[in-house]
Amino acid sequence: MTFRRLVGQERARRVLSRLARTRQIPATLMFEGPPGVGKALALWVWVQGLFCTGNEPPCGQCRACQAVQNLRHPDFVVLTPEPLERLPGDTSLRPFPYNPSGNRISVEAVRETRTAQGPVSAPLRVVGILNAEEMTLEAQNAFLKTLEEPPSRTVFVMVTSRPEMVLPTLRSRAFPVRFSFLSREAFVQVARTLNLPGREALFRASGGSPGLARELDALGILQDRERILTVLRGNPDAFLGWMLEEIPRWKTRDLELRLMVWGQILLDAWMILNGSRPRLHPDLFGESGGAGVVLAPHHLMQAMERLPFIERALVRNLPLLDAMMAFLEPLLPQDFRDTLTGLRRSPVPDDGLGVVSLLDG
Ligand SMILES: [Zn+2]
Repeated sequence: MTFRRLVGQERARRVLSRLARTRQIPATLMFEGPPGVGKALALWVWVQGLFCTGNEPPCGQCRACQAVQNLRHPDFVVLTPEPLERLPGDTSLRPFPYNPSGNRISVEAVRETRTAQGPVSAPLRVVGILNAEEMTLEAQNAFLKTLEEPPSRTVFVMVTSRPEMVLPTLRSRAFPVRFSFLSREAFVQVARTLNLPGREALFRASGGSPGLARELDALGILQDRERILTVLRGNPDAFLGWMLEEIPRWKTRDLELRLMVWGQILLDAWMILNGSRPRLHPDLFGESGGAGVVLAPHHLMQAMERLPFIERALVRNLPLLDAMMAFLEPLLPQDFRDTLTGLRRSPVPDDGLGVVSLLDG
């Protein structure tokens, strides 16, 4: 089995096809690696490979392959923080949203996977747990108990981009299958299938994650890159007007992604001001290098230093406008700061330490 659909994951492909070929499959596996690089897709095609009744498994055509594809196979069970009906119907490429709803996987859901009965029609029963780190602590403990007395001929596959959030006792029982960011060539190949524009910029911004690139593209990140540049050039009016109009429609995830890319651009600008070359967005700064950045390096650094704190505070529901202002504040001329102070719910922190206490409070 070659699992051709798993583009750019040679190592994982080799491991998975060896397991499928020899049928020596560990009772618990963990697919781990960055978000959006094909872990869930790998689960689908691997299960197809195991269940396929065609000549060249996974053929994708036989009844078993089709049933797995559409999540209608009695021996393929999937747990996810999202309601199953909300998963994308098209499984040809399946980068899952990174749990945007904030749902968790409940202890009841985990308990339901316990059954004395083995597989109905496939050689094995496979239980996939997507976003496994979103199992509640209670659910993880219930899962651990399940593994101590495993149901017969059942394989559990945890899929996660944050294995450190899964109990060590669970992780140590699981056979790891590691996924990585895609190379430029592999990324371009997938991006073409996904019809993504600006492939080079998206490759650099996402680090080689087609799933992340798809999210960034849906946000219109290629335009947002240009927008932040005007702030760095000392003309924030248009940016602020745009932001104030748009921000009521943003979700937390939208802001997280924008901040990620804007942070990369700030770092590039900082490198330029320090005599180096931009690393992630060289096209944005042009051949001459500077692109008219007028801000002092320490202001750029201040905004960048705030990003991890802002990120953590967003998880705890910091209002998006406050998050934006905490980020922008070191980048704005004084008169802009004064005008905008009135818009915030919390006071504007006046230094890096201030923002730490504000955001952590
Ligand atoms: Zn098949």
